[in-house]
Amino acid sequence: MAKPGPRPSELPPKKAGTASRKVRATGPGPAEAGVRRAERLLPDAKLLALLTRLELTQWWPMERLLGQQLIQAQKLIDHAQRTAPFYRERLAAVAGLKPGALTLDRFRQIPPLTREEIQGARADLFSQDLPPEHGLTFDITTSGSTGKPVTVKGTGVSGGYVEVLGWRYHLWHKRDMTAKNMNVRGLKKGKPLVSKGVWGIRGVVMGPACTYAATLRFDELFDGLIKEKPGYLLIQPNTFLELLKLSRQKGVRPEGIREVRTQSELVTPELRERCRKEWNVPVVDMYSTAELGTIALQCPEHDHYHIQSEAVLLEVIDDDGQPCPPGTLGRVVVTNLHNYASPLIRYQTGDYAELGPPCPCGRGLPVLARILGRERNFLHLPDGGKMAVIVNEGTICSIAPSIRRFQLIQKTLQEIHIRVEAPQSLSEEEESGLRDYFTGLFRHAFDYRFIYLDEIALGPMGKFEFFKTEVTAPH
Ligand SMILES: [Zn+2]
Repeated sequence: MAKPGPRPSELPPKKAGTASRKVRATGPGPAEAGVRRAERLLPDAKLLALLTRLELTQWWPMERLLGQQLIQAQKLIDHAQRTAPFYRERLAAVAGLKPGALTLDRFRQIPPLTREEIQGARADLFSQDLPPEHGLTFDITTSGSTGKPVTVKGTGVSGGYVEVLGWRYHLWHKRDMTAKNMNVRGLKKGKPLVSKGVWGIRGVVMGPACTYAATLRFDELFDGLIKEKPGYLLIQPNTFLELLKLSRQKGVRPEGIREVRTQSELVTPELRERCRKEWNVPVVDMYSTAELGTIALQCPEHDHYHIQSEAVLLEVIDDDGQPCPPGTLGRVVVTNLHNYASPLIRYQTGDYAELGPPCPCGRGLPVLARILGRERNFLHLPDGGKMAVIVNEGTICSIAPSIRRFQLIQKTLQEIHIRVEAPQSLSEEEESGLRDYFTGLFRHAFDYRFIYLDEIALGPMGKFEFFKTEVTAPH
């Protein structure tokens, strides 16, 4: 689903390395870039100009927004066909794409792009002639929830959109950036489990921040929340639900909290209701992916989402590729209108969603009524504790490079099966490297059994679940 999303306007720790770094799964935030952060960001003035434009375009009628999207899609298609080998034949095969103005019907003739195609295309997906005004490029590698990583390139412009949509998100929800922000998220190997910092907009408005590893146990996270007293909590919904349960059990509520921000997983109406009832604060959610950036933000006045039409063209289609009317659940297909380094045209995210009727708030940005992602399962620990399973696929690939895909199945409180798709069995050294990695991650020595498969089957709705537990309740 709704994979982890960008938090562009939160100030990352400054980094100066020039080696290729991977951006974390939560999106191409300027945080962990492959090039120096300052070099790859658009200048303040450009972003402010863009923000000013976004302030106007959000009120445009839907038809006007669509017209503008099609103009941009036509430019992107021309660019991709001319400069990215992968698209040369793919787009040439679609009748009526050129010449002339693009229509939505013609656009829909382009076959949806799958994750597997991106993996197969490798460098052929990248533009070989990126216009210089798009700035420097950086690598974005998905990780964590999909079991099948892809790498694309972002640019100053695509990253700029992520950043400025982050500002829009804060403005819409009137956030006070002098308040403390507590961020619970998956961290790269070697990072401290708890750290302090700041958040804000480009150093102009700043408040204190703390980051907690999402792999900490729920009781540890809850204790942290009570101690930190943040104004804002940023967390994955399923983990948040566990904290709400602990809050109720212990009869303790966090002091001073104003809003819970979520991303990456399905947010149910029940979770929103429970948060309002028990903590008296709203849950505010966004939809983004590492590869695509920001896709939809929750409306400031309602629980549904506004598609960020200035940055992406989002479609919801059925199994036959036909557009789904509002109220019908279908596959999400997204075109990033501004990434000219790795054109992603009609990319099938693997998520399911439902369009909604126009929003009473008056914004012309189309509405996503529901976003259904994969619900993450939790690992059950032998002592009755539970934790979210967030793995770093980059680390796994570095330990065992031949792995095409993997899946963890918790069979009992002590045994985990590691299912592996690879050309041949892993070496003893690779197996033991993976055992050590998982033992470190879970901070418990489970019994691991390796199972080699030609293909790991997909779950319901064609979803791949990289972790599943068969333990139904703590002992
Ligand atoms: Zn609205």
